[in-house]
Amino acid sequence: MKKPDFSKLVRKNIRHLKPYNAADIRCAVKLDANESPYSFCLKNGALDMIASAALNRYPDPEARGLKRALARKIGLDADAILLGNGSDELIYYLTITFGGPVLYAVPTFSMYGIIAQSLGERHKGIPLDRNFDIDVDRMAEHIKKFRPGLIFLSSPNNPTGNCFSTDRILRIIEMASGIVVLDEAYQPFSSRRGFLSLLKDYKHLAILRTLSKIGLAALRVGYMVADKALLMEVNKVRLPYNLNALSQTVAVEALRGSFLRDVTANIVAARDQLYEAMSSIPEVHPYPSEANFIFFKVRDADAVHEKMLSQGVLVKNMNRAVKGALRVTVGTPEENEKFMRALKKAMGGK
Ligand code: PMP
Repeated sequence: MKKPDFSKLVRKNIRHLKPYNAADIRCAVKLDANESPYSFCLKNGALDMIASAALNRYPDPEARGLKRALARKIGLDADAILLGNGSDELIYYLTITFGGPVLYAVPTFSMYGIIAQSLGERHKGIPLDRNFDIDVDRMAEHIKKFRPGLIFLSSPNNPTGNCFSTDRILRIIEMASGIVVLDEAYQPFSSRRGFLSLLKDYKHLAILRTLSKIGLAALRVGYMVADKALLMEVNKVRLPYNLNALSQTVAVEALRGSFLRDVTANIVAARDQLYEAMSSIPEVHPYPSEANFIFFKVRDADAVHEKMLSQGVLVKNMNRAVKGALRVTVGTPEENEKFMRALKKAMGGK
């Protein structure tokens, strides 16, 4: 049978789309994906609940128990929350619901652009300024001219690790004619409080959070907090049962105790130590971080990445987004030590 020419069959916007590059490199020290190095362990009672789950039935379509647990955590009502299979899924839903043009500041999380492109929406990344803060004037120009349906701002920003300045975020929110999405995936690691308190004043604002970075990446639980009317629109495109029963159960359990909070505090302390240690290596330039990773520059990022990999340490090579840049996720103290040893060696030291 003749093999179809898929490049002709596929929609034009998908033809040239590059899929998200989730590296699947096996490595002794894996510090490339901003995961937590500490895994939550289910105790007896929760294990029984999992063992006795009715796997023949669909999960609670509204994930009410999990919404209640998250609502308690952030101090808002459960009906101010919409859940996604990771916040990735919510970015998808937001883009389907409100459409483009989609605007964001770069470098940033690549899924804003990938999802816009997959859905055939125009999208534009405006470069951050030299301090990795929002270039408000250029953003303003673009907003006036193209009236974006959606603006995504990741603060703390992935991969640069900094928070954008509050006054600039506010200016963007004030001037936007569409929806502004503040992606606070890394907020738990930040010394700033985040922007949930703005929601009562700005009905076109949505805030994204996730459990992925604080230790539950395998569950795929992301959530959006926004005005109920906004959530109702996005909820129309949500697939039924988008959060599986096991993830719902485990997430509720994990949110009950202090484990997630405790490991987050550990990671913040380890991050600050790691930053100091990295600063002492000649020709390594780390940037201060409000997240669970550190963005840093070296002269030849490709070579350093390769040399570290050969020593069993995987970091994220950001050289294509920012020349000379790499990003390392904060690991356990042992992993951080191994990372430091590998980095020193890769930089030509002993
Ligand atoms: N937003 C940002 C800024 C991220 O860095 C990531 C993960 N890399 C996500 C969202 C997606 O997280 P989730 O695992 O919840 O889909």
